[in-house]
Amino acid sequence: MALYGAIEAGGTKFVCAVAAGPDDIRDTATFPTTTPAETLEAVCGYFAGYQQKTGDKIDSIGVACFGPVDMNKASDKYGYITCTPKPGWQDTDVVGSLNSKFGVPVGFDTDVNAAAYGEYLWGAGKGLGVVLYLTVGTGIGGGLCINGKPLHGLMHPEMGHVIMQQDKTKDPFECACPYHDSCLEGLASGKAVDLRWGVHASELADDHPAWEIEADYLAQGVMDYILTVSPEKIIIGGGLMHKDLLYKMVREKVRQKLNGYVNVPAITEDIENYIVSPGLGTKSGICGAIGLAIDVIS
Ligand code: ZN
Repeated sequence: MALYGAIEAGGTKFVCAVAAGPDDIRDTATFPTTTPAETLEAVCGYFAGYQQKTGDKIDSIGVACFGPVDMNKASDKYGYITCTPKPGWQDTDVVGSLNSKFGVPVGFDTDVNAAAYGEYLWGAGKGLGVVLYLTVGTGIGGGLCINGKPLHGLMHPEMGHVIMQQDKTKDPFECACPYHDSCLEGLASGKAVDLRWGVHASELADDHPAWEIEADYLAQGVMDYILTVSPEKIIIGGGLMHKDLLYKMVREKVRQKLNGYVNVPAITEDIENYIVSPGLGTKSGICGAIGLAIDVIS
């Protein structure tokens, strides 16, 4: 039976797992994201140590990576993290480094594309043609899995930066995105919520006006995604969504904003099963990475 190394590479930590499949995770470890050299060394050291300890060989590695990344296989920089604001990580050759240090094939995608893929393979979007995964945490990002393949195209989707309608009489907050005046991430990410209210999102009570504003922006984004890519399932994860009431609020606002224009039962009658939490819980990304590792040697 093949064994896989899976990495969920984030801006603050790298979560690693050794697994024979999504239901057979044999070991996990977490490393802080420091410099690229140090972090990738720690990851490879962990996998090597696992092999030594157990005598089992890891056959391939899958990486669900923070971005932006270069996904163009014809590019010299395929498998690189490109222009990230994360200090020290610009132009980091993730796939090449892992490949040269560890010597097995490496599957690679964005964290959110991998999460969408994991949910398509084994989670809330299992077997569906168009699966959208949105994470709402410190940042906001979205991935798409279309007909069983994570979507790349020109680069990869950057759903966190779609433009929002901002009513400044209700929300005078200055958008936190350095690139845009009013984008989803800049107005609704965990970072934006913290800045707007001066406290961490987890400290805001359920009846705090923050959630109404949050749900409105998320619903604007979700409506745009519905109208552009016609997902069969919209899966929303990430730290902010631990506030359960957000799902209900977002569903209601999506329905209001669509205003009857998209007249399909999935939305008009069954939106509770259309906009949902991840079927794999907090494991969508790491399971997606397992899926990428499986693919790269099949
Ligand atoms: Zn932006």
